[in-house]
Amino acid sequence: MAFSEKLMEIKDEALKAAEPLYKAIEDTAEKNTLKVLDAMRETKVSEAHFNTTSGYAYDDIGRQKLDELYAKIFGAGRALVRTQFVSGTHALATVLFGILRPGDTLVSLTGAPYDTMQTVIGYANPSPGSLKEFGVGYDELPMKDGKVDLDGIKSIITPKTKVALIQRSRGYSMRPPLSIADIGEIVARVKSINKNTICFVDNCYGEFVETSEPVAAGADIMAGSLIKNPGGGIAPTGGYIAGRSDLVELTSYRLTAPGMGDELGASLANNRLIFEGLFFAPHVVSQAIKGAIFAAGVFSRLGYRVSPLPTERRGDIIQAIELGTPEKLIAFCGGLQKYSPVDSFAAPEPWDMPGYADQVIMAAGTFVQGASIELSADGPMRAPYNVYLQGGLTFEHAKIGILGAAQAVEDVK
Ligand SMILES: *Cc1c(COP(=O)(O)O)cnc(C)c1O
Repeated sequence: MAFSEKLMEIKDEALKAAEPLYKAIEDTAEKNTLKVLDAMRETKVSEAHFNTTSGYAYDDIGRQKLDELYAKIFGAGRALVRTQFVSGTHALATVLFGILRPGDTLVSLTGAPYDTMQTVIGYANPSPGSLKEFGVGYDELPMKDGKVDLDGIKSIITPKTKVALIQRSRGYSMRPPLSIADIGEIVARVKSINKNTICFVDNCYGEFVETSEPVAAGADIMAGSLIKNPGGGIAPTGGYIAGRSDLVELTSYRLTAPGMGDELGASLANNRLIFEGLFFAPHVVSQAIKGAIFAAGVFSRLGYRVSPLPTERRGDIIQAIELGTPEKLIAFCGGLQKYSPVDSFAAPEPWDMPGYADQVIMAAGTFVQGASIELSADGPMRAPYNVYLQGGLTFEHAKIGILGAAQAVEDVK
């Protein structure tokens, strides 16, 4: 038997306890699926949008339709959905470089931003090509008791604050993710101090967790990765930006070139995959969240600190587990990798990942390289050795992979 009797008992207990929570997740997935279908009908998505394009692709109607569809679903004025974005960080950086000018100030309202955003901003460590090198100022409002310091906002937003960065997901930290209601409150507070400050949400890992998105709650612009939630595990690469039309237009000049904007860029053969991924996304996100709750149930029963707790509100698809030792972190990733569909025979090792300060270990036996909407786990090699688990295209796979990780951790002497 692959898993110990103790683990199989814990599995049954965790599933039984999670049953009532799963109903609400299925309900959200159904509402979001309806929203996607309604938008596909209203924008008249058809087979012609799946045709391949090449070269300049001025007439890539699939690309144009995807922009329209994303804008509609996310409640945005305009969107930019592109395979030319190499990752989420690239889409996020495109927003910052597209909007900020020398002498402007950027403020992060959610403490230190996600690791890869630090090199984009350039203040934590010198980083060639960063915003700092272009003369953009930066300030940071530390989180207070795991929450955005609402009262502190008035002391950090000044008449010069051009952009306020709000990170929805926890990133590599134990703080809870923001809800859409939280984001609405933060944006309202910022606007009451400086109505011209642009509220920009790092929406990575948040899409379709709730039934509305940050721009519908008042944020001006947001960005994310297509190999996370909105790609539904089908999109092969890419990122998106959505928000106020004038701002999204500015970012398009940074993605391509001034004067060109969003009117060219070949989607090659990828459009169908991005449409299909978007169709799957609400369901896949629900599978991932069910898996995260299951992981919280299993590991809390094994005596580990988990965040969120199994019953806590979810604002993203991430489950953090404090493993305590480097050996257990490596074992967790090895156990998860073993039950992956791809590279299941490989043993993950810590490595110096571009853009990250500490070494990172990663389990990602995924069809799309590094796609973290697929069952995956990663953690920086630093105390207290938290692992961040996310994704799962099917709940069945999530359960098996999590039990594999739990068994490997249990087997560490
Ligand atoms: C994943 C993620 C990013 C971007 O990471 P990429 O690997 O470049 O897609 C940025 N912010 C947060 C909070 C993330 O989770």
